Amino acid sequence: MKKIFAANWKLNKTPEEARQFIIQFKNEVFKQDSFFNTRDVFIFPQAYSLEALSQLCNGTQIQFGPQNFHFESSGAFTGENSAAVAKQLGATLALIGHSERRQIFDEKNSLLAKKIQKAQAEKLLPIFCIGETLAEREAGATLDVCKKQISDCLSEIDKSQRLVVAYEPVWAIGTGKVASTDQVAEVHQQLFDFLTSLHFKNFQLLYGGSVKPDNAKELLALPHVDGFLIGGASLDVSSFLKIALS
Ligand code: PEP
Repeated sequence: MKKIFAANWKLNKTPEEARQFIIQFKNEVFKQDSFFNTRDVFIFPQAYSLEALSQLCNGTQIQFGPQNFHFESSGAFTGENSAAVAKQLGATLALIGHSERRQIFDEKNSLLAKKIQKAQAEKLLPIFCIGETLAEREAGATLDVCKKQISDCLSEIDKSQRLVVAYEPVWAIGTGKVASTDQVAEVHQQLFDFLTSLHFKNFQLLYGGSVKPDNAKELLALPHVDGFLIGGASLDVSSFLKIALS
């Protein structure tokens, strides 16, 4: 199975900056022999930059998708984005349940469940984010929290379709505090066992939270770490590529 390197650009990069990133990234990647034989590259730009990605990534091995979308394709939902339109632009992925969506925009598991079903209906691969807050970790509730996020959001989906789950401890996102290898190894093993017990057969587990070129290699070597969801370090071609080459 290929390792996944997923870039979450958050509310960064204009369409022109997105274009420059992809042009530079392609130039660098073409210097690496068979880069895509062992790696999947996923990019999540802000919605206004999806079209720029569409122009430069369609027909290449770089995949992209929206960071957020509505669970309906169209209608009276002022200000929302359509997964169906993202699909028309060539998107193959959808980011769902990032902790910033949960915390800042108050997205609940019940809403996220609908979004995951919508992603599947549009044939967009869901990259579903889960993770505990610092208070939850300190209370010893990490696994309960992650399992509940999975149970609440994934019970209605088609288990035969491919699924990516990104474990992102909230306290490690954008803080520079990376989870220790022991912490990541324990949670990933438990998540692997839990998803298997729920009869998911075609899933991969990503780690996210302050992944940088200097910590990527040891995290990637852990069992059931199938790649990364990367925020800050994905904004720069050279650091993103260093992580992907770890
Ligand atoms: C993220 O945005 O999902 C993330 C993990 O951010 P960072 O790598 O900056 O911690």
